[in-house]
Amino acid sequence: MKEKHKVLIMRCASYNAKKIAGIIKQGMEELNAIPSGNILLKPNVVIAHKKFFPHAFTRAEFVDGVIAATKDMAKEVKEISVGERSGITIPTRYSFKQAGYLEVIKKHGIKTYYFDETKHVPFKLEKDVNLRKNMFFPKPIVDCDFLINLPKFKAHPWTRLTLSLKNFIGIQDDKHRLVDHNSFLEHKIADLQEVIQPKFIAIDAITAGQKMMLTPTPFDMGAIVMGTNSCAVDTVCAHMVNVDPKDVVHLKFSSERGFGPIELDKIAVSGDFPLEEIQKKTKNFQFCMEHIDSYFDKSPNLRCTVGTFPEKHSPDYCWGGCPGSLQETMHIFRAFYPEIEKEMGKVRYVVGKVEGPLNLEPGEKVIFAGDCTSWEGEIDGERVTIESVYKTTSEVDEKKAKSNDLIKKIIFATAHGFFNRKRYIRLKGCPTSVAQNVNYISFMAKIPNINFDPRLVFGVNMGYCQMRFKRFFNHLLD
Ligand code: SF4
Repeated sequence: MKEKHKVLIMRCASYNAKKIAGIIKQGMEELNAIPSGNILLKPNVVIAHKKFFPHAFTRAEFVDGVIAATKDMAKEVKEISVGERSGITIPTRYSFKQAGYLEVIKKHGIKTYYFDETKHVPFKLEKDVNLRKNMFFPKPIVDCDFLINLPKFKAHPWTRLTLSLKNFIGIQDDKHRLVDHNSFLEHKIADLQEVIQPKFIAIDAITAGQKMMLTPTPFDMGAIVMGTNSCAVDTVCAHMVNVDPKDVVHLKFSSERGFGPIELDKIAVSGDFPLEEIQKKTKNFQFCMEHIDSYFDKSPNLRCTVGTFPEKHSPDYCWGGCPGSLQETMHIFRAFYPEIEKEMGKVRYVVGKVEGPLNLEPGEKVIFAGDCTSWEGEIDGERVTIESVYKTTSEVDEKKAKSNDLIKKIIFATAHGFFNRKRYIRLKGCPTSVAQNVNYISFMAKIPNINFDPRLVFGVNMGYCQMRFKRFFNHLLD
């Protein structure tokens, strides 16, 4: 009989790097996961800021403990490194600095790979279920012998949970990350598993995140979850917060493709923190899988009109695309300016194929968001026709994916807003990114643009300039 995949749930009440190192070492021993060769640690640093995004990322003390344990346990080491690509076009080196990683990496004398600065190479996919034949990955991922996956345990507003499988979204640079980041997001996450499988997984569930992925509400879970199979680990984690693993769609897809089990009875769960005890503790763990029209229902100045969507598997909503992007955008605004929804001008966010009048309020501006959006009607006596420019997966060539450069996007959006004299504007993209939504909401609602906030602007731009220089330099060396 095939041996069950093991998953350990261990108690860990605080971010004490020494204690974490001891737990990780024990986990590596019990799971017989001995790092060797090119060892790459992949944390989740989708965004980090001590004040505004303190719970969005795998904590530095956690990474510190894992590196210490890895150094202790590893054999025949060629290299130990930490690699990641942050989200929403923010330079990864800025996020690493904010997350407190630089001190930890320097202390251990290991290498850093910012995936927005490294070369990306094509990787062939061969299954019929794959969305496309090629995907692009950073060279250090493809060259890695022993991947250590270090996700943060968080709820996710588009995919319910972000754990080991979903953490792979951060192994692509923005240009390729946003390809199929629409209603195919769950399929894409399953496809990402083809490139490499982690040989050790340790989930930072000491302080878990509820509801949102960028601005999660902290939840004191006090646990570290370890395993060697992503599906098995994610299945156990789903049960930890009383979620049926089959409701985590990318987990279901990945399991169906043979990446690992989704049934608890096929997994050997052990450790010093019983699953039943955690399930009781997390009885009120909060999620946020809500359509934006009802989610912003009570917002005084933001209303959403949601239509229908082009893909047969998800005609009534686009999880993974523009709607969720707006949700995260508004949470970022709230983090910077808590009263923003009261202070902003009236905005209607229209997404999908919408029919019938919009019944706009006086002064209410309209953002037609996303390539699939279409509408026909009158605004201020003018006939307005918004046509869908949506492209199917096979019509999108990943080799010609457009750059998602932070500065280019800000310049384009600022110019678009400045020269737009109408009450409505078309925001293109599939998906429209959080960064784009920040710019468009800012000028349509006449509120400060976070990209120019003095608490952010200097550090992010410094990081951007360094990133551009290093990327250019690295490409010269190739
Ligand atoms: S344009 Fe936006 S809402 Fe429409 S399919 Fe693409 S990601 Fe989804």
